[in-house]
Amino acid sequence: MNEKTVYVDNAATTAMSDAAVNAMMPYLKEVYGNPSSLHTSGQVAKEALDDARARIAARLNAEPGEIFFTSGGSEADNQAIRSAAANGLKRGKKHIVSTAFEHHAVLHTLKKLEREGFEVTYLDVHENGVIAPEEVKNALRDDTALVTVMFANNEIGTIQPIAEIGKLCRERKIVFHTDAVQAVGHVPIDVKAMNIDMLSLSAHKFHGAKGVGALYVRRGVPINTLIEGGAQERGRRAGTENLAGIAAMAAALDEACDGMAANAKKERALCDRLIDGLKKIPHSRLNGDREKRLPNIVNMCFEGIEGEGLLLLLDDKGICASSGSACTSGSLDPSHVLLALGLPHEVAHGSLRISLSEYNTESDVDAILDAVPKVVEYLRNMSPVWEALEKGEKKHLI
Ligand SMILES: *Cc1c(COP(=O)(O)O)cnc(C)c1O
Repeated sequence: MNEKTVYVDNAATTAMSDAAVNAMMPYLKEVYGNPSSLHTSGQVAKEALDDARARIAARLNAEPGEIFFTSGGSEADNQAIRSAAANGLKRGKKHIVSTAFEHHAVLHTLKKLEREGFEVTYLDVHENGVIAPEEVKNALRDDTALVTVMFANNEIGTIQPIAEIGKLCRERKIVFHTDAVQAVGHVPIDVKAMNIDMLSLSAHKFHGAKGVGALYVRRGVPINTLIEGGAQERGRRAGTENLAGIAAMAAALDEACDGMAANAKKERALCDRLIDGLKKIPHSRLNGDREKRLPNIVNMCFEGIEGEGLLLLLDDKGICASSGSACTSGSLDPSHVLLALGLPHEVAHGSLRISLSEYNTESDVDAILDAVPKVVEYLRNMSPVWEALEKGEKKHLI
């Protein structure tokens, strides 16, 4: 990427921090022993693994023995949901509560479980992208094995009432999992105070490396392995540990948590400028609640255009953004998240997600506020949909 690139796709992945890269290096070259080996090189590696586990646990207010390393957020989500379903089934429980705007790592696992005989209630996320705890309560049944609700949405950034849901689930002794991949390192999390039983996180969303993450599992909550093999991770996840990635994850999380308040303040100010500036574009809307949101994600819709066209033209100007989730871009279907908010297909098609990190600057925001209005106008001028809207042949929806 050249000097002038404005990278605002941090919800898809982040740049590694210097601290994370530095923490990784010794385990790539010098301390290359296998943490399961009994010799000194292995034992030094094992100590580093234990140290990373303890530091990551501390940042969540968990115990070291409650952290299981995985290959990332997707694996952690799969393992949490599969385990809760299998263990629920043993006691005749075949019902799961979730939401319609989860990440595909959750949704596709749930769809598969539905085909295997489970019943899933998908809660309404309402127009503001926030679920109501009361509706979770009403959805719980005697045969509910699991509630899985994401901490913060990766496309629109809305934060869910996790502590309230945790309390409801604990009272009913129902396992509560949250996909906190967008939230860890960005907002404060306390698994004990929030009554969270299982939590997924991924290092590359907070300036760690790709391909490494963790699943927190409260002591006493059973989990099964997805991968058969050696006895790593107390038998819950076979395979030689990605120690370099894990050490980098601990360093990145320490840095993200120490800088959390300052980073959030900076990002929130930049996002507020973006929202206020982009809302001046006629027939645009901010998606998701204005207050209950992560400090770093802005998602807007612009009527009469296609998000893909917008992204490509922004890319020409050196701006790397997204239309929504990285997993759905490339397909022409509108985002399942925006549809879950109740947006019509035509509106959901014209979406733009800007996700910042603390590395972004005022001049990045200036560049976006300069480029987006021009590109939207350019695309509208050649859009037959926009022409019909302007002539009054179609009604404006936003
Ligand atoms: C990125 C993301 C994931 C997937 O994490 P990977 O480490 O890329 O597998 C899962 N859930 C959410 C909310 C995400 O943003």
